[in-house]
Amino acid sequence: MKIAILPGDGIGTEIIAQAERVLGALDLRIESERALVGGAAYEAHGHPLPEATLALAKEADAVLFGAVGDWKYDTLARPLRPEQAILGLRKALGLFANFRPAICYPELTAASSLKPELVAGLDILIIRELTGDIYFGQPRGRRAAPDGAFAGAEEAFDTMRYTRPEIERIAHVAFRAARQRSKRLTSVDKANVLETFQFWKDVVSEVHSEYPDVALDHMYVDNAAMQLVRAPKKFDVVVTGNMFGDILSDEAAMLTGSIGMLPSASLDANGKGLYEPSHGSAPDIAGKDVANPLATILSVAMMLRFSLNQAEAAARIEQAVRAVLAAGLRTADIWAEGTKKVGTRAMGDAVVAALAGKPAITTKH
Ligand code: NAD
Repeated sequence: MKIAILPGDGIGTEIIAQAERVLGALDLRIESERALVGGAAYEAHGHPLPEATLALAKEADAVLFGAVGDWKYDTLARPLRPEQAILGLRKALGLFANFRPAICYPELTAASSLKPELVAGLDILIIRELTGDIYFGQPRGRRAAPDGAFAGAEEAFDTMRYTRPEIERIAHVAFRAARQRSKRLTSVDKANVLETFQFWKDVVSEVHSEYPDVALDHMYVDNAAMQLVRAPKKFDVVVTGNMFGDILSDEAAMLTGSIGMLPSASLDANGKGLYEPSHGSAPDIAGKDVANPLATILSVAMMLRFSLNQAEAAARIEQAVRAVLAAGLRTADIWAEGTKKVGTRAMGDAVVAALAGKPAITTKH
C-alpha cells in the first residue's frame, strides 16, 4: 500500500506532521511519499499542482491532503491559485463522492452553538456529489455589454446540470453507506422549483428499488437547512448535489463544535480516495502550534477504512481520539473552562500515547 502525502500550506504542514506520527505508530506496512501542493508548489515550481504531484496522487492507493491557500496568492491569475490544486485533484482522480461525517463527541457538546440536548450524541453523514451540478455545468460566463465590453457586462450565468449516470453513481454510494449504518437515507433536493433536482429525485427513487432494506425520504434543501439546526439528530445519512452539499456540510460542521474536528473523504468509483480535514489552511494561526490536528488524524482513520481496508486500525485511531478528549485535552478551538489547553504537537503526542495504551499525558516542547 502506498499513500501520497500532500501537506500544502499554512497549518497544513503542522497538522499533517501529527497525522504522519499517528500513522507511524500503527505499525502498518504502508509506504508514503510526500509532494508539494498549493502555494508551496507554486513557490517551488510555478504551479499549484505540478505534474509530479499529480502523477504521485494517481499512482498512490490513497492521498492524504493537508490544506492549501494563503491570502498572499489572492492576486494571482485563477489557474495559478493554490485552491485550484484541490479542484484539479478531484477532477483528475474522478473523486465524485464526498463523505463528511459530523459527529458531536460528548466531551465537546458545550462547544456547539446549539443547545447541548440538540447535539449530544449527534452522528450524521453528509454525502455530497462533488464533480457535477452548477459548479461545473456549461455554459457559464458573462454576457458582454452591447458595445462588447467584458468589464461592463450586463449579465452573468451558470448552468445547473446533472446526468443520469452522475446521479445513479452517487445514489448507489449513499444507499450502500446507509446500509452500513441505520438504513435511513435522506435525499435533499429542490424539486419543487428546479428541473435538475426533480430529475435528481426521480433517479434516486429509481435506484432505491435496488435497496428495499433502506428507508428513503426526500427533503427540500431549505427545509433541510432548517431541520439541521432544529433537530439534527433526526438525520442519519444525507445525500445531495454539489452546491447544496457544500452549504449543508458546513452548517453541519458547526453543530459539532469546531471545524478543527471534522475529517472528510472524497472517493472515486473504486474506493480510492483523497482524505483531508474539512477546514482550510488557516493562515491566521499558521506556525503557532495552536491548530487542532484531530480533523486530519480522523481523516487518516477514514483513509484506513475506505481505501486501505484497515478498519481495525481506523477504529483504534477513533478510540484514541475519544480517549484524549475524555482525558480533558483540548486545542484552543475546543477549549473550555476546566479542560487542559494543549498545542498541535502535544495533541499529536497524546493521540500517539493513547494508541500505545498509555494515559493521555502530554510532554512539553
Ligand atoms: P479556514 O478553514 O482556513 O479557517 C477558518 C477559521 O477556522 C479560521 O479562524 C481558522 O483559524 C479556524 N481553523 C481552521 N482550521 C482550524 C484548526 N484545525 N484548528 C483550529 N482552528 C482552525 O478558512 P478561511 O480562513 O476561509 O480560508 C483560509 C485559506 O484556506 C484560504 O486561502 C482558502 O481558500 C483556503 N481553503 C482551503 C481549503 C482546502 O485546502 N481544501 C478549504 C477551505 C479553505
